[in-house]
Amino acid sequence: MKIIHVSAECYPVAKVGGLGDVAGALPKYQCNAGLDAKLVMPMHRTNFLYNHKWENVFQGRAHIGTYWFDFTIIKEKSNKLGFDLYLLDINGLTDREKVYGYGDDNFRYLAFQIAVVHWMTQWTEKPDIVHCHDHTTGFIPFMMKYAYEYNVLRDVPTIFTIHNAQYQGQFGWDNVGWLPAFDPWKSGLLEWHHDINPMASAVKNAWKVNTVSEGYLQELRYNSNGLEALFEYEKGKCYGILNGIDTQLWNPATDSFLENHYNIDDFVAGKAANKKVICDRFGLDINKPLFSFIGRLVEEKAADILPDAILSCMYLLKEQCVFILLGSGLHETEMQLASINGVYPKLYHADIGYDEALSHLLYSGADYLLMPSRVEPCGLNQMYAMRYGTIPIVRKTGGLKDTVKDVGDSGWGFCFDRAVPEDVIYSIGRAIELFNHPEEMKKVIHRGMAINHSWENTVQQYLELYQSCKT
Ligand code: ADP
Repeated sequence: MKIIHVSAECYPVAKVGGLGDVAGALPKYQCNAGLDAKLVMPMHRTNFLYNHKWENVFQGRAHIGTYWFDFTIIKEKSNKLGFDLYLLDINGLTDREKVYGYGDDNFRYLAFQIAVVHWMTQWTEKPDIVHCHDHTTGFIPFMMKYAYEYNVLRDVPTIFTIHNAQYQGQFGWDNVGWLPAFDPWKSGLLEWHHDINPMASAVKNAWKVNTVSEGYLQELRYNSNGLEALFEYEKGKCYGILNGIDTQLWNPATDSFLENHYNIDDFVAGKAANKKVICDRFGLDINKPLFSFIGRLVEEKAADILPDAILSCMYLLKEQCVFILLGSGLHETEMQLASINGVYPKLYHADIGYDEALSHLLYSGADYLLMPSRVEPCGLNQMYAMRYGTIPIVRKTGGLKDTVKDVGDSGWGFCFDRAVPEDVIYSIGRAIELFNHPEEMKKVIHRGMAINHSWENTVQQYLELYQSCKT
């Protein structure tokens, strides 16, 4: 079976969050399982591009509205990622350092999608499945079905995976001319709430849709940034498939970002040594429980409640815990978290920025990982934390609800209901109590490390989804 994934991110080429991790792993595990999976993404100007060798595989010319553009597709020569990786370059549109965050993102990602579809029409053999990820690829199912120019692809099944429904990429009908000419009777299949909405369009037009956890799929029917009625209406073709994690890349026994390695049978010394690396580096107190946070500092992650929760903890829990935070995002939250640096020099450090190496060190050396998220489609952090023997403290939402069971029910984490400082503080209090009972804590850690979140389990579910398009 030939599958082409289309994604804006793919680790280690370019990653902003979980989409990058998934796109870098799922095709690899599909290839390992005997499928022929490939991935195409925009040629962002990141280090990976400059540090690898490429061959030209396609040159084409397409148009977005009246703007004609040339594009080039190159393929990585060494099969570094374990699958065929293609980068698509459009001069002036994809040649940027960041993946998102430009004023013309809607325009440039639509140009990217048009170029991808154009390229596929030139393939001698059609793909068996076109697998699109998130709104930056959301017009592809519509274009393949209803754009006159791409008519030869209308029978090719499309799958749309929703990693995050908060971001939808909508724009006004005044720009409908950006889309290739299509059957005008079908224009309703592009629309949501009077806008052209690629997220909604993908849900309407893809053959099958899935979210990255069952819990998130249920939530979307009452909380999906305006698309609730759509998810209710389309529920017959929507599925929840929990993400896996790349257990080769995320392995405390071999992780190249770590100085001290360990495994499930012998984790105490290795974790303690990595905690020491963190505490030495940031001048933190090693004898107290170390609470970490890693992630985008945005509302969805409830990063805005952290300053209040942390300051209250210092007071209410009598400075019995240490915090280390890594993230970037909303300016106001960044400033608030950074402003606590220096107030409790041995108990708190916030690293504002993106740092892949530090994230691995924190997953391994911290005692706990905080995830108070308001919305969490799957959440990979808690799974990485469990694999590295760090106990997750999570709000019961989306994928967090599906993957973390409370210590009170013989589980491997702490769960709470509301994204408010009080619930975070209460859970931190419970975690301190566990820290003071090391033998009990070891059992909890062991239970978390024993869970297998490998992609191998998930690949089969995707295969069944693909096969269901034929029946
Ligand atoms: P989302 O995709 O919503 O950001 P996920 O939990 O699905 O959240 O994935 C987050 C991924 O991004 C994880 O691999 C996490 O380690 C990584 N990550 C997020 N912020 C940072 C950061 N500041 N530095 C390093 N890695 C980060």
